[in-house]
Amino acid sequence: MNTIKCNLKSAQKTKKLLIENNLLDRLHIPIKENSFIFFPINSFKKTKMIFKNGIFEKKELDKVKKKDFKSLLPKNIDVPSSFDVIGDIIIIEIKENMIKNEKKIAKALLKTYKNTKTILKKAGEHSGEFRTQALKYLAGINKKETAYKENNTKISLDVEKIYFSSRLSTERKRIFKKIKKGEKVLVMFAGCGPYPLTISKNTNAKKIIGVEKNPIASEYFNKNIILNKINNIEAINGDVKKIVPKLDEKFDRIIMPLPKDAAEFLYLAFHVSKKGTIIHLYGFEHEKEFNIALKKVDDVCRKHNIKYKLIELVKCGQYSPGKFRICVDFKILS
Ligand code: SAM
Repeated sequence: MNTIKCNLKSAQKTKKLLIENNLLDRLHIPIKENSFIFFPINSFKKTKMIFKNGIFEKKELDKVKKKDFKSLLPKNIDVPSSFDVIGDIIIIEIKENMIKNEKKIAKALLKTYKNTKTILKKAGEHSGEFRTQALKYLAGINKKETAYKENNTKISLDVEKIYFSSRLSTERKRIFKKIKKGEKVLVMFAGCGPYPLTISKNTNAKKIIGVEKNPIASEYFNKNIILNKINNIEAINGDVKKIVPKLDEKFDRIIMPLPKDAAEFLYLAFHVSKKGTIIHLYGFEHEKEFNIALKKVDDVCRKHNIKYKLIELVKCGQYSPGKFRICVDFKILS
């Protein structure tokens, strides 16, 4: 494969420049030969443009081995096929047939993922008004608070007392990429603030209001505003049913990330929308029934005499077999 050759003295500088320009091939391991190092690159043409006098050579390089905690465990035992990483906490789902080995599995994860301090297991589904999930301690430091980084944003939270999903970072990016300079944004069901915070850190939005009922989530939301040195977010603790009708302004964009039943709250958005407002309404639907989500929007809009234009229905992650988290994006026309 293509590599760029440099002497060991300039290795750090070369590597930094390769990373900054997204040219380092991270699937292969650089190789040292005498006083030289050969970095794998993913584009010969682009690298040549940056390193005009660079020396390029073809080399056989070893592939980076994937971290695999399973290699530390007996071969015949069942282990979770995936897990959630939030900051320095890993959350796993232990099925019935894994219970007797859960501590071993947790310890193997701790040994493999060096930045992880704590392993917790799911002890129930997301439930209740606050959509929280009970978690049980398995290994490492016994704690449930962590600091997580996403899209240039620091987020501090308690993983048990607050709803939070790191799997939604790509969806949050999809939303903030749409935001134009000067927009006023309302985020209902804001949790500890991931949507408002990532919008503030990555756009030129004028103002963002986040409303959240869970007092602990609101406390972290306020803490996260300070942590990120933000001054264009207002975090309001309370029920959207009481707070939103009292907001004396119209928004350019309204985000409603409560997939379980956001459609029931959609009428609230009409109090604070105007011609051109874009609404992002989340839901859970089976892939064969996405039209149900569209019908929900249509029904509420008809009931309130609202004209709208559908922008798109986006799949933003699988929830269960055949069922997806979806987002209906639509624009208010009148
Ligand atoms: N937006 C956050 C995120 O993406 O991590 C949290 C999403 S979570 C699925 C839904 C949030 O809505 C929870 O934090 C819950 O406490 C909050 N919530 C539920 N009912 C509410 C209501 N009536 N008013 C305000 N917040 C509410």
